[in-house]
Amino acid sequence: MPWRSNTSVSSRAGSPPDVGVVIVAAGSGERAGPGGPKQFRTIGGVPMLLRALRPFLARSDVGKVVVTLPSGVAQQPPHWLADLLGERVTGVNGGDTRAASVRAGLAVLGEWPAVVLVHDAARPFVDAATIAAVIDRARSGVGAVAAVPVGDTVKDVDDDGRVARTVPRGRLWRAQTPQGFPGAMLVAGYSRWPADAPAPTDDAEAVARAGFPVEVVPGSAFNLKVTTEEDWRLAEALARELG
Ligand code: C5P
Repeated sequence: MPWRSNTSVSSRAGSPPDVGVVIVAAGSGERAGPGGPKQFRTIGGVPMLLRALRPFLARSDVGKVVVTLPSGVAQQPPHWLADLLGERVTGVNGGDTRAASVRAGLAVLGEWPAVVLVHDAARPFVDAATIAAVIDRARSGVGAVAAVPVGDTVKDVDDDGRVARTVPRGRLWRAQTPQGFPGAMLVAGYSRWPADAPAPTDDAEAVARAGFPVEVVPGSAFNLKVTTEEDWRLAEALARELG
């Protein structure tokens, strides 16, 4: 199968790699302030995208990784990314929305691996245990979303800043990535998404709307999404703590 790799990566218990990964890194990153696309800026000296990629590359069951990139970057990647690109890791131009970028990545994966993971390059502190748990759950035939329970009290606020109500938080979780699915399920989720609906902001939304079961897998508070300047400072502090 074209997405399978013949690189030196050893196979899981003798089986061929059966996991494909799409790393979405095509955002403009404007909310993080000036300095170019945030996914190429360093945290603790390591580019954020590289931090997000490495734990997936470390797994022997990951056969192919597609990285969606801002237009033009796939043709002229920074040197640390160029060093990785090849048969196992491919770069592709992303789209106007995260969902469009995921679709572009799925198109490059070609035939659907047993399990496909999608991960935001903006989450550079994803840990091996979370990735393993998401893959295990997806292998069992359901969608799996790394997520953490909401700890704060949640307010529904109107346009004037007035609190309309307090939302019961007992069932609320914050969805992270990675999100993992049987490959055909993820593709069906995106292909059935109505063309006239606003694009889904994560993969689980597309898959669940298509009628497939999606479950949460406990993630980590360290798996933060680096979006704003404040997040960036948190990420630098976390890099000092975690390395
Ligand atoms: O914009 P947001 O923070 O939701 O982006 C989440 C992830 O999706 C980021 O890693 C970003 O680079 C990626 N993305 C993308 N293509 C877009 C928009 C976002 O690959 N058009």
